[in-house]
Amino acid sequence: MSPRSIGLAGAVLVAVAAAAALPLVGSGYHLALGISLLYFSVLATAWALFSGPTNLVSLATAAFFGIGAYTTAVLTELLPWPVVLAASAVVGIVVALIVGLSTLRLSGMYFVIFSFGLAELIRQVVTWYEVNIHGSVGRYIFADTTTEGIYWRLMILLAMALGAGWLIRRSRLGLAVRVIGQDEVVARHVGIDTTRAKLALFAVSAGFMTVTGAVMAPRWTYLDPAIAFNPVISFEVVIMALFGGAGSLFGPLLGAVPLVLLFDVLGAYFPTYFSVILGLVFVFIVYGLPHGVIGLLESKVAALRRASLETGMSAFAERVTGPVWSRAAAHEPATDAPVLELIDARKSFGGLKAVDGVSFTLNRGEILGLIGPNGSGKTTALNLISGAIPADAGDIRLDGKAIEALPPHRIAQRGVARTFQLVRVLPASTCLENVIAGLAFHAPPLWGEPADEKARALIARVGLAGREGMPAGQLTYIDQKRLELARALALDPHVLLLDEWLAGLNPSELQDGIALVKMLRQEGLTIIIVEHVMDAIRSLCDRCVVMNTGRKIAEGPPAAVLADPEVIRAYLGDADA
Ligand code: ADP
Ligand code: MG
Repeated sequence: MSPRSIGLAGAVLVAVAAAAALPLVGSGYHLALGISLLYFSVLATAWALFSGPTNLVSLATAAFFGIGAYTTAVLTELLPWPVVLAASAVVGIVVALIVGLSTLRLSGMYFVIFSFGLAELIRQVVTWYEVNIHGSVGRYIFADTTTEGIYWRLMILLAMALGAGWLIRRSRLGLAVRVIGQDEVVARHVGIDTTRAKLALFAVSAGFMTVTGAVMAPRWTYLDPAIAFNPVISFEVVIMALFGGAGSLFGPLLGAVPLVLLFDVLGAYFPTYFSVILGLVFVFIVYGLPHGVIGLLESKVAALRRASLETGMSAFAERVTGPVWSRAAAHEPATDAPVLELIDARKSFGGLKAVDGVSFTLNRGEILGLIGPNGSGKTTALNLISGAIPADAGDIRLDGKAIEALPPHRIAQRGVARTFQLVRVLPASTCLENVIAGLAFHAPPLWGEPADEKARALIARVGLAGREGMPAGQLTYIDQKRLELARALALDPHVLLLDEWLAGLNPSELQDGIALVKMLRQEGLTIIIVEHVMDAIRSLCDRCVVMNTGRKIAEGPPAAVLADPEVIRAYLGDADA
């Protein structure tokens, strides 16, 4: 350990010790304020565990907090408190899993509204139960707990929430939700089971919120649904986390401390204007500090660092060294059976038949060109193969096994990698993390040091060496395409689907790109390219399938199909071709 980190650890230790000693030396007011600081810190940290990386704004905090408070109210006289807290965690997690399964498919505003409705729904259900079954709206809590005890329990809970956050950020689950938060489509196509990842994190986050409610319940000797499920808590927590920075581990804590103090003062002196001021603070944060205080600090540091970074970049062909794609021909079965078969595949959008009974096969080690005028169904065909959209009818087989009913992450795990017609990188992640996202979720996953090494090699392979630490959003369009290819290769694919990957390259980049794709084939990779650039089609493709208005109109070697009168007619009929 360096002297500096010893100093830092010492300072943290002193701060923790001082915080822990507060109940012994402070007044009742200080203790109450300390409890507020702590429980909001736990809630904001727990909220950011899920909402930070996924960007799904949850207003369900009050729901889980209230569930915890009620668990204590019901169980506290029956069971010792550690059991009560454990039980509350279990209840919170179970509710989160049930609710999450039905809502995590929702996106953006719909999720926000639902999560808010959830707290209201649970409050109504509890009220109904209390009035009709229990026989009174409120409950008295006779817990054998001191205020000091609550304070210390919250301290431990905060440490646990921060610890969980620290571990998750370093885990594959953490990477999965960072990818999901930036681009859920990409997440699925690198093999991430997005529902499971979101659900897992939602449950962990809810667990902490519920236990916070359970720990806090004895603070109110009398509990009723309006106290336990107070929706203002949900809003305050969002504001605190966003103010500090929901994207970083300590951001929510940094936001909670000043805002709890501010809300304390506001509540005391301007109770009538409280919600108006709350709203104004919220608006200020959304517009003025979109990434929170921590985000602001980070961008200042990044700007300083960028100023000292060399930005020169040489052509990528010269950086291409040795094979990196590695599903070595050795561990592929040596057989003549096609890698991929499409049999009478169909997909309509409303009345439009985008893919209208298309069949073709893809042989091991070949490059198949999928060509045709704009709107002829090429991208849709790739979407059917990669599972991005389910086929209406037809069979799709990978290595002889049906894949048409599989979700995209399973198809990716089986070795179908793709790039997108409109390039999709994870803009806020570094180039390194973009490629690691491709390594971490296929079978068997690559993680840690080996993943780092492989990702660096792939990045060098596509000509981006030196850019590992740069956020992908800062790359030029062409470089983003290279990065996207590196991420696809990271999946160690059986089949690579390139959707107009060469489009938009200048002539010299085009030659480099063609050389790179050729080299991938030489290494034994099987590729489908959707392409408009005729030079590329002629020099790369072993065979071509030509589509027009959803149907296959020709198939054969490039020279033959490009001379086919029907193909020529199809292209000439299309103004964009
Ligand atoms: P290509 O890639 O050959 O240019 P596409 O497969 O993208 O063609 O599109 C084929 C047809 O299907 C087009 O008419 C397009 O407008 C339509 N289409 C593609 N995707 C969708 C979608 N998600 N919803 C509705 N229509 C779509
Ligand atoms: Mg297309």
